[in-house]
Amino acid sequence: QLSMLQEKIDHLERLLAENNEIISNIRDSVINLSESVEDGTKNSQGNISQGAGSHRLPSQQLSLPVDPEDCLFASQSGSQNSDVQMLDVYSLIPFDNPDGGVWKQGFDITYESHEWDTESLQVFVVPHSHNDPGWLKTFDDYFRDKTQYMLNNMVIKLKEDSRRKFMWSEISYLSKWWDVIDTQKKDAVKSLLENGQLEIVTGGWVMPDEAGPHYFALIDQLIEGHQWLEKNLATGVKPRSGWAIDPFGHSPTMAYLLKRAGFSHMLIQRVHYAVKKNFALHKTLEFFWRQNWDVGSVTDIFCHMMPFYSYDIPHTCGPDPKICCQFDFKRLPGGRVGCPWGIPPETIYPGNVQNRAQMLLDQYRKKSKLFQTKVVLAPLGDDFRYCERTEWDQQFKNYQLLFDYMNSQPQFNVKIQFGTLSDYFDAVDKADTKSGKSSQSMFPVLSGDFFTYADRDDHYWSGYFTSRPFYKRMDRVMESHLRDAEILYYLALRKAQKYKISKFLASSHYMALTEARRNLGLFQHHDAITGTAKDWVVVDYGTRLFHSLMNLKKIIGDSALLLILKDKHTYDSYSSDNFLEMDLEQKSQDSLPQKNIIRLSVEPSYLVFINSLVQ
Ligand SMILES: [Zn+2]
Repeated sequence: QLSMLQEKIDHLERLLAENNEIISNIRDSVINLSESVEDGTKNSQGNISQGAGSHRLPSQQLSLPVDPEDCLFASQSGSQNSDVQMLDVYSLIPFDNPDGGVWKQGFDITYESHEWDTESLQVFVVPHSHNDPGWLKTFDDYFRDKTQYMLNNMVIKLKEDSRRKFMWSEISYLSKWWDVIDTQKKDAVKSLLENGQLEIVTGGWVMPDEAGPHYFALIDQLIEGHQWLEKNLATGVKPRSGWAIDPFGHSPTMAYLLKRAGFSHMLIQRVHYAVKKNFALHKTLEFFWRQNWDVGSVTDIFCHMMPFYSYDIPHTCGPDPKICCQFDFKRLPGGRVGCPWGIPPETIYPGNVQNRAQMLLDQYRKKSKLFQTKVVLAPLGDDFRYCERTEWDQQFKNYQLLFDYMNSQPQFNVKIQFGTLSDYFDAVDKADTKSGKSSQSMFPVLSGDFFTYADRDDHYWSGYFTSRPFYKRMDRVMESHLRDAEILYYLALRKAQKYKISKFLASSHYMALTEARRNLGLFQHHDAITGTAKDWVVVDYGTRLFHSLMNLKKIIGDSALLLILKDKHTYDSYSSDNFLEMDLEQKSQDSLPQKNIIRLSVEPSYLVFINSLVQ
């Protein structure tokens, strides 16, 4: 009797335990559901996270905030809300390409000498160096031959005089350099950033192309750069101005992403010469760029469009390249580069400073006539500039002599200094606020894009939209694999930590994931995904993508294996090599991928699919 009673009690206990489990499952489901409803997102657990409900990501912390106004286009699309609509501009411009004189693609600019009597001209000369992460040389070769010297000299030469300024944009190079420099140099960089002599502009991994990349990769390379800055510089270095001088046309998507990343100002350069001329005539080279679908002003970001042909020094001081070239002191006689317009620069000394200052001021004044404010931006740089110490001395010393002279002449009515991009934008903001129309900005609102770019005549830059399609496709494959790998790795890592699966925890997956993100980021560069780099540079990008693709497969396989195993502790006795099959197999960086056919036999077996597109 007693033993029967004992059995019954045991049975009831088992039932109670089962019931408790069921109830706790139901409770978890309810919590999941209520959180999903709060997020406004569908919480898809997929096939691999069975039972992982209570260990899910803290969704509120990790999800990006969505401004409800951003989604208004769905209900109120079709309303146009801007002063300048690019689609209209393209139908208004004659595209007749007449000879504009010294400014070939523009027009003669004149001014009255008294125009700055009441408010003086404020000029910011902004030194910069455009370092392509791969183009005629590979990323590593450029770093070895050029960039490392540039960055080393930057520290030394900026420290010599606190009036000197500089700016940098490609974090891929900064990060590579950071890994090989000593603490003293790192501290010097931090103090230059803190005192405003050095500014990080945009701060993406690269200066990305704006036509080829998927927006996922654009965001990812921006995050990679910003995370690097936050981790390594940690002094509140938050980029706030966008600098895109070389992408071959400009997309409003980039403007939107910068705005949503917390930027207030941006600059673009490669825009069709006829659009530049039209904007210069109407003084609309500076505008608030608004998304076409935005019915309010939530997406507005202030944008400066450079007016002339190029970002090099002959085309940035003013309309006449023959004059501006004489103020690129790297081209002094005896150097390796000269001025194609026939007149070389002269070293500044007391005997010529008056004449040279007047020549240069004339260009700045003419340039200022194309803008609404009396603030002038004069970029001072070019591709891979400031590598040699002599160039730092040539540019900074000669310009300082010109500044000292100009600032000492009251009749010039000019305040001129070295500056960074944000120094310029701050001054423009001030001028806008001061303009009197307190509630309304002096700048127009613009919507639309700046494609297709032409730099001269009928030279349209449209070939790169489709060239080297093999690698453009590989970019997209890599992107989706990266997304898969990051999701699965994160979920698996949580399991590995919980069950202390040392083999998984000791793997190099985290580093391989970081490397994969950086290789994808590098490929968004405006000479990479575009296909405009040399063949051997393309092979270098392809090899990086392929190498990371292989690593991602391993990460996906190992992570999925751990997630699927019922007993996590048996992870060590399996290998994911024979367990995971990808839909496509690629043997080398330049070989065509083959479809992988999964053959099923009559034997019952489990087949688990993952599709990251829904995540
Ligand atoms: Zn470039």
